[in-house]
Amino acid sequence: MRIDVVSIFPEYLAPLELSLIGKARQDGLLDLHVHDLRGFTTDKHRSVDDTPYGGGAGMVMKAEPWAQALASVAGADEAKATKPVLIVPSPAGERFTQALAHELAEEEQLVFACGRYEGIDERVIEWAAEHFTVRPMSLGDYVLNGGEVAVLAMVEAIGRLLPGVVGNPESLVEESHSDGLLEYPVYTKPSSWRDREVPAVLLSGNHGKIAQWRRHQQYQRTAERRPDLLETFDAGKLPRADRTA
Ligand code: SAM
Repeated sequence: MRIDVVSIFPEYLAPLELSLIGKARQDGLLDLHVHDLRGFTTDKHRSVDDTPYGGGAGMVMKAEPWAQALASVAGADEAKATKPVLIVPSPAGERFTQALAHELAEEEQLVFACGRYEGIDERVIEWAAEHFTVRPMSLGDYVLNGGEVAVLAMVEAIGRLLPGVVGNPESLVEESHSDGLLEYPVYTKPSSWRDREVPAVLLSGNHGKIAQWRRHQQYQRTAERRPDLLETFDAGKLPRADRTA
């Protein structure tokens, strides 16, 4: 997969050189490029923002530097079978979820446009639809200073789903949100720590009982912490005993 990130703070994306995503880049599993939006300005001050039409607080990102940057990373002159996906982080976007991470992990190229200030001139989003499948996307119902933190989160969530990035693909299966429920609690050695014991069933060696305990814990934890998830969870997937045991 190829990923391009455009930002006025390219150094903000440095953590994408670390850990599993950094290794995936080194191993050639992920071809990731970060671009400085100011490199696509033409004026002496390399300005990327201006005052909003209609008045109001804050500044708005100017359209032309964005059009130049996005045309460059999209390879607008090249004939392409499919349009790359342009993700525009925004608190006014569609909510980013694990299901969307899976969907986006199937794409050939993702481009991320990191907004700052009050956001990007809306005409860029309209224009970009000629070259991209445009997806405004929100990390959650709160407001960040810029799109960079959202991009770090989204690239990590998508990147770890690419084949070969996570050493044991099994670990992607039993995770929170993979089946609509939160993950069960996990423990490691020692079995007794500061007078707290690991649940006895996990030491029993009975794999059937362990699996049932874990499913029950998943259900209970989801009911306590995220009851909203149970509204869309298909309870038929879970035997009654696992919900109530
Ligand atoms: N005025 C905008 C609004 O109310 O919708 C908020 C602008 S915010 C200060 C600046 C930038 O941060 C946005 O353009 C976007 O790139 C990013 N951002 C802020 N909150 C976000 C969120 N919840 N999810 C994704 N990106 C976010």
